[in-house]
Amino acid sequence: MGELRFGLLGEKLSHSFSMPIHTKLGTDNYKLIEVSRDELASFFAKNRIGGLNVTIPYKKEVMKYLFGASSEAYEIGAVNTIVPDANGRLIGYNTDAFGFSYLLKKNEIDVEGKKVLVLGSGGAANAVVYVLEKLGAAEIVIISRKGDNNYNNLYLHEDAQIIINATPVGMYPMDDESLIDMYNFPNAEAVVDLIYNPLRTGLMLDAMKYGVKAVGGLLMLVAQAVKTEELIQNKNLENRIDEIYEELLHEMQNIAFVGMPGSGKTTAGRKMAKELGKEFFDTDEMVKERTGRSPEEIIENDGEERFREIESDCLRRALNNNGVIISTGGGIVTRQENVDILRRRARIIYVERPIEELSTNNRPISKAKGVENLFRERGPIYEGMADEILRVSATLEREKR
Ligand code: NAP
Repeated sequence: MGELRFGLLGEKLSHSFSMPIHTKLGTDNYKLIEVSRDELASFFAKNRIGGLNVTIPYKKEVMKYLFGASSEAYEIGAVNTIVPDANGRLIGYNTDAFGFSYLLKKNEIDVEGKKVLVLGSGGAANAVVYVLEKLGAAEIVIISRKGDNNYNNLYLHEDAQIIINATPVGMYPMDDESLIDMYNFPNAEAVVDLIYNPLRTGLMLDAMKYGVKAVGGLLMLVAQAVKTEELIQNKNLENRIDEIYEELLHEMQNIAFVGMPGSGKTTAGRKMAKELGKEFFDTDEMVKERTGRSPEEIIENDGEERFREIESDCLRRALNNNGVIISTGGGIVTRQENVDILRRRARIIYVERPIEELSTNNRPISKAKGVENLFRERGPIYEGMADEILRVSATLEREKR
């Protein structure tokens, strides 16, 4: 039967962050194991299992291949962890429940006495409902496409206080999708999206727009993985959750620099990439590499619209990575789709430099529209989307020297 298998079992796993987490916890041979529905039975028949996590769409289906399951997994009706017992018999567990309660606690989201909407009715939703019941939520409503409570009668629940997304809608690469509009939930206090790729989903951004606390699924992912490793290694590892979460966030998060043309985004981005040992992308450079022409040439010959199309495509490609540094062209924010994808897939640093220090050399749009006009148009967008503002000025730099 070969060597013991460790890994994540699922149908499509390209979005997964599980491997680096388990490697950090000492399981070096943890692999992504993509298995189709037709192959599931033979996978269990042919392999010796050392420890598995289970994800979409098999959390319920795998139960029939197990010798037994923990009482928690039975109660939840879903298994996300499989570890053999001392006799090599496969036992199912549910560590998502622990992961979800850890996430709520760390983010100080109190569900007691609250009305909670859970989007989706799959394996993760089961674990979420189990935890919400234990924590004393007053009312839990499951929104399911095929249920009595569905996306066509959401108005019945506009008084919901907490909203949990336990569906894959909004997950990379279809991350511009969202199932609900937060405008319709004026009483919402917090939104939890179990999705962790992208780190900030469209639903989370929508919640943030209305001042609602919004939390993604990365901490839950780490917490459930740590619990899985506790079962595999038979030792307590809980004190490693926060440290691994921070490390993973640092490794996986993209950082994008935005700001006016000539503000120093490329210099700042290149410097940061070098210091952190990360890959660097410059959208203007990407345009040049792809077309063999500079942005100025394209704008002058084919018009700004054509340039923006190529630029958006380059941005999307750069943001298909994890843990990279990106410097963007000043006008990238003139397209809302660029602003949205940047906010979902990157931490944004706005490089702010005094207008009088911005050069217009080789910058046809700055020349044509005037730097002041451009700043009036774009300044609020840069500021509105920024997670951080980096204030730079030649005077300051001279003073520092
Ligand atoms: P699942 O068992 O496949 O269930 C997902 C549920 O989402 C389905 O039962 C379905 O519910 C709903 N759904 C699926 N596609 C939909 C669509 N196009 N529109 C509306 N609803 C749709 O998956 P799961 O294991 O529960 O995982 C769900 C999500 O949670 C995934 O994104 C997963 O990555 C995430 N997750 C994260 C963590 C973490 O640690 N952060 C842990 C577990 C899961 P209805 O048919 O009832 O509508």
